[in-house]
Amino acid sequence: DAAEVVIVGAGPAGLVLGNLLLGAGVRCTVLERQSRAHVEQRARAGFLAANTVRVLTENGLADGLLKDGRQHDTCAFRTDRGEFHLDYGSLGRGEAHTVYPQQHLVRDLVAEFLARGGDLRFETPVVGITGITGDHPAVTAQSADGTLHRLSARFVAGGDGRHGTARTAVPAGAVRRYRRDHGVTWLALLAAAPQSMGPVAYAVHEDGFAGHMARTPDITRYYLQVPRGESPDARPDARIWADLAHRMRADRHGPLHEGPIVERRTVEMTSDVLDPIQYGRLFLVGDAAGLISPAAAKGANLAVMEAEILARGLTAALRGGDEQPLARYSADCLPRIWRAQEFSHWMINLLHGPAGSDDDAVFLRALQQARLESLQTSRRHQDHFAENYVGI
Ligand code: FAD
Repeated sequence: DAAEVVIVGAGPAGLVLGNLLLGAGVRCTVLERQSRAHVEQRARAGFLAANTVRVLTENGLADGLLKDGRQHDTCAFRTDRGEFHLDYGSLGRGEAHTVYPQQHLVRDLVAEFLARGGDLRFETPVVGITGITGDHPAVTAQSADGTLHRLSARFVAGGDGRHGTARTAVPAGAVRRYRRDHGVTWLALLAAAPQSMGPVAYAVHEDGFAGHMARTPDITRYYLQVPRGESPDARPDARIWADLAHRMRADRHGPLHEGPIVERRTVEMTSDVLDPIQYGRLFLVGDAAGLISPAAAKGANLAVMEAEILARGLTAALRGGDEQPLARYSADCLPRIWRAQEFSHWMINLLHGPAGSDDDAVFLRALQQARLESLQTSRRHQDHFAENYVGI
């Protein structure tokens, strides 16, 4: 039977959407550019919000993360004035993160989609999307042997990330793109080493930010702020560990558990939001709908939130003949997207002070200190932080 929904991209957005649609009896096909091995090994996010875990649990997609995910509910901030902890699991709404590597989640979602009888085609890039303002939108995809196939459906969901094809199918002028370059670059590292401290530590340092994030018992993520344009290979392992130890103030707070750096890439802190995130019969979801800087670990969580709302809308349209929820998709998602962007932007300003000795930089660094002090001492500020840190 022909698909009712064609989904472009097998990341968290496309795969959660696909599984929810299959669960509701909607026929869908997922087209993915990369191989199965590639998407199941692509390490990115790890911190799942309570809402994400709820969506996955309610839809029978959480077996892996409930078994192997770890609950984290505390984070630490290190500054030149010492260290303070926020036990956010007992602040705000009392929610914790579940730490489960994104590639494991993707692996689980692929397995479940196939077990439910879903049509998932790897190594099948989508090269064009047409007819989205009519009743018969279609995607053109290329199979491994180079032949082009056209798949038409009632609706198309674009979950193919920021550089995918779906975004480009919306005509310029039909959508407004808000964007910001936060001017900060992180070297994102995976070390084959156990965590060195509590699950999450943010080190604010005049030489630049450093971060520590637990992933699994043998793998830990670190972030090191680097100058824009620096090659991911510019710093040898020994220099990376020295820089991390220096900025994390290991002499005061204890040594880092070093190990081989098994992955390194640079990530520029940029954000963008599209408005609306739907056009005709095309619906954007996940990073395709908007990119959020990873400072507050929101990207995958927004993707799951949007996938749930979109699945409900598509199901109502296809099974109940009611297109109203689908018409409201953008309006339902955008306020939450902006809340997450606001918090993420605040986190960037909390963690990074501008370098230099000009008046502006000195003033902004003093504000950064005041912000940290407020977070350390004000219970109301801590509750607000906790609510936004884990919430979507
Ligand atoms: P993607 O995961 O990018 O998936 C899109 C898929 O579409 C890919 O598989 C791609 O191959 C495929 N595709 C692209 N073009 C085409 C095409 N033309 N045809 C077919 N397929 C195509 N988020 C968090 O919530 N918590 C975190 O802790 C966190 N940490 C992060 C750390 C780093 C270093 C990075 C880079 C990101 C992090 N994020 C985090 C963000 C998170 O990883 C993304 O927001 C998330 O992957 C978005 O999911 P998605 O499905 O929208 O996009």
